[in-house]
Amino acid sequence: MIAPDPGTATARLDRMIHEASVIVPFTGAGISTECGIPDFRSPGGLWTRHAPIPFDEFLASQEARNESWRRRFAMNSQFGEARPGRGHRALASLYRAGKVPAVITQNIDNLHQASGFASEHVVELHGNTTYAFCLDCETRYELSWVRERMEAGNGCAPDCRACGGYIKTATISFGQAMPEDAMRRARELTLSCNLFLAIGSSLVVWPAAGFPMLAKRNGARLVIINREPTEFDALADLVVHQDIGTALEPFIAH
Ligand code: NAD
Ligand code: ZN
Repeated sequence: MIAPDPGTATARLDRMIHEASVIVPFTGAGISTECGIPDFRSPGGLWTRHAPIPFDEFLASQEARNESWRRRFAMNSQFGEARPGRGHRALASLYRAGKVPAVITQNIDNLHQASGFASEHVVELHGNTTYAFCLDCETRYELSWVRERMEAGNGCAPDCRACGGYIKTATISFGQAMPEDAMRRARELTLSCNLFLAIGSSLVVWPAAGFPMLAKRNGARLVIINREPTEFDALADLVVHQDIGTALEPFIAH
């Protein structure tokens, strides 16, 4: 469908939210740009600066691991200081009202949890960058520990104290297997809703991009809220081409 004017879009979104009993939001980097975390694909986004380090390169070389951690710490101020935006707060309001059972997110920034969602109600398809794991024995590490070790070790990323495995942020890199449990839960949630809200995603990263279509095929209404068009716009019941914070602000409960 063609995006209606902002006033009409807001009125229609309001009606659809009112009519739905189970709403499942699916969020991408666009919901967090107003919080100071750049997205990947907008002008000035992360990809215009660095191509991501694929998982096999991370495994293959110490230098790739060092570089990956250097980039993570260079983003520390953005990730560390970010607070939930209006989109996060609107979704948290619908969650508290009992309309949203959980949120599916491609984001790794922990901002849905910070806005009031219980951790078990945030289904993270691409993991979380606010802590780290050993890839072999899954011991958890805090970023502050990794940072201290790197500083003490001439910029060399440390290995696991328990087993010597590689330590990586708890995120899913390109080429890394998707988390099975999160994928299963995302699928179940998608099939349980009668309104699916795709918010701030370019919908080009698979398999995550398959969920809006799955919801629609299962009979749910589909709303896409994104500044730029996506290839799924034609499938949607409502397309909102606006700033996410502006579009969702009316749904924040005060
Ligand atoms: P993307 O960068 O591919 O797409 C973001 C979309 O949001 C773009 O189409 C852009 O036009 C739109 N957008 C940005 N700011 C907006 C705003 N204020 N209002 C309306 N629309 C806005 O992001 P993606 O689809 O999430 O895929 C990128 C991958 O990168 C994800 O899988 C995620 O794991 C990762 N990532 C996460 C973060 C984060 O955690 N905040 C940030 C960057 C990248
Ligand atoms: Zn280990």
